[in-house]
Amino acid sequence: MKRLESKYIHDEPARRPLRVYASDPMITRTSGDRLTIDVPNEPLAPGPQGSRFEVIDYDGAHDRFYPPVNLNDNAILMQGGLDPTESDPRFHQQMVYAVAMRTLENFERALGRRLEFRRRGYTRLRLLPHAFHGTNAFYDPELHAILFGYFCADRKDPGPNLPGQMVFTCLSHDIIAHELTHAVVDRLRRHFLEPSNPDVLAFHEGFSDIVALFQHFSFQAFLRDQIQKTHSDIRESKFLVEMAQQFGHATGTGQALRSAIGKPDARLYETVTEPHERGSILVAAVFDAFFATYDRRIQDLIRIATGGTGNLPGGDLHPDLVNRISIEASRTAQSVLTMCIRAFDYLPPVDITFGDYLRALVTADYELSPADESGLRTAMIEAFRVRGIYPDNVSSLAEESLIWQEAPKDLEPLDTDKIQLAREVAFYASGFGQSAFAEKKEKTWASSDFELDSTELASDLASGLHAYGVANAAALDLVAGIDIAVLGFHTAFRVAPNGQLLTELVVQYGQKDETRSSELGGIPFRGGTTVIAGTDGRVRYVISKPIASRPDAEGGKTADKRYERQRDYLAVTDLADPQVTYGTDDYFRQRARLRMKLAALHQGGTQ
Ligand SMILES: [Zn+2]
Repeated sequence: MKRLESKYIHDEPARRPLRVYASDPMITRTSGDRLTIDVPNEPLAPGPQGSRFEVIDYDGAHDRFYPPVNLNDNAILMQGGLDPTESDPRFHQQMVYAVAMRTLENFERALGRRLEFRRRGYTRLRLLPHAFHGTNAFYDPELHAILFGYFCADRKDPGPNLPGQMVFTCLSHDIIAHELTHAVVDRLRRHFLEPSNPDVLAFHEGFSDIVALFQHFSFQAFLRDQIQKTHSDIRESKFLVEMAQQFGHATGTGQALRSAIGKPDARLYETVTEPHERGSILVAAVFDAFFATYDRRIQDLIRIATGGTGNLPGGDLHPDLVNRISIEASRTAQSVLTMCIRAFDYLPPVDITFGDYLRALVTADYELSPADESGLRTAMIEAFRVRGIYPDNVSSLAEESLIWQEAPKDLEPLDTDKIQLAREVAFYASGFGQSAFAEKKEKTWASSDFELDSTELASDLASGLHAYGVANAAALDLVAGIDIAVLGFHTAFRVAPNGQLLTELVVQYGQKDETRSSELGGIPFRGGTTVIAGTDGRVRYVISKPIASRPDAEGGKTADKRYERQRDYLAVTDLADPQVTYGTDDYFRQRARLRMKLAALHQGGTQ
């Protein structure tokens, strides 16, 4: 009996409830919606400061620190977190932490592993809710931080805000989720901030919007309300399909920051180059696939509810019907989001295009669910097609041509013994959960995912992987004679819809040619390969962007084409940059690198 008691007293709950604005303070004022979300529970110091995030409330404009919230304070615990309010900085800290944790959890679930944010001596990603005065918020890789600005709403056209009222970007669900996604993408693919073709930064932006927008569908009460209001036609719901409404209105534009809805027009992909606008094409394509799947999944419910006519009557829908439809909507949204995130492991390490992303989406989903029961994969291919997004080097948009080419049969398998993997994989696969990850992560190579730096390169695993890359360079589309770097390695565990566990080993190799960076505005020409293998070490996919021409190899032509594309894109961005004419020589030499800064990219309220 005693043991039982102590168990109940000492066991920490798995989840921590925290209150947030569902969208932002403006929407909450007009609709009255606040909600409680729960996030994974972890030991927290005041800040909050957990194992991956550290909220630091330094106000740059006033050079002062606000007292950090202690979420373990009894009074706060008893209320399930502080009540949403614009006036208490401690609530701002709580909201940033809660949405960051929720977003990270979505990534970890889909990727099947825990993500750490260690970089150059920092152990956590730093979140600064009141970093500066300005209409901006951005992720800064150098500071290893997300900086949120605050500003006065437009005095002439503030929308439903008060003229001149203070607007905090750290209180917008969408802005927090969007910026956090930038940080996670940078964590997973560190070279995706280098604008080597028009799609790279656009992918960063579009993908960050996709994650933020699909999280709207996980707020059940809100979703039900929107389904009732739109009579199940959720395309009509501003809350669901628009990004950062308060921010957009407060900057005097008379509208939300961006929307997931856009008319399909294949010419846009050929002509639009501004990263946010181009990113919106990707967002719209993914949402098309979502809506098509959602419509199909609720058809039977509508038929049942209407005696087979399919015509919903005017007036309110029956609450039971609203409830069932909202379950389908949130399930479909979660499947799309998971599919979008899971594709990450199947992306090349450098120079991504939207076409690569489509191939990664299709391959990752095919590996897990070959039959496409949900129809989502077909819907996704069709949605990309109508928006003019075609991958390079594929003969058709049939599923089998979109799946990445299988690795050559005679490719030597990864030596799982040598790189000390077999034991590790067996350990994870035997059902140890997150706590096992947490205990084991102290050992570098045992971490579920890691970035390599020069010191870690000495580890057995890294040298084993490096040796494998060198020995099999040609088959991996790597070029002998140019340094091969191991950019990352991880194991991923995913559960298929049929319950089957799929385990994969993923290695990223990178190569760079710095002699050409003077022609490319200060960034090197890069190549690289993602290798995906099963637990037996057999390589399934080699997803490559070769760096140089090799005699009689198709990779060579691809490399030359990529180089030309990178130079052309630099010329295009030069046209939109007045500093090319008026800036210093130093600026000119480094201009592509300087344009990588998200702070600059987000300037003027584009996020
Ligand atoms: Zn952004």
